[in-house]
Amino acid sequence: MTCRELSEFLDNYLAGELSPDVRGRFDGHLGECPDCVVYLRGYRETVGLLREMGRDLKEEVPADVPVELVRAIVDARKR
Ligand SMILES: [Zn+2]
Repeated sequence: MTCRELSEFLDNYLAGELSPDVRGRFDGHLGECPDCVVYLRGYRETVGLLREMGRDLKEEVPADVPVELVRAIVDARKR
């Protein structure tokens, strides 16, 4: 699996919807690619932030909001 493929499976991975075969290749790539481990961690945090924001704001946050934008919004709300 390549880094690009991994990024495409992230949503399904976090939702626990990967087939055992894909899941195995996904984990295999994580075992040899520190960059993707960092990416996955950041992605997971962002998804968590979006859920919290959605709960706070009582509105749906679009799934295609860029990570950078979400971080900027969260930072702004902390101040
Ligand atoms: Zn990678």
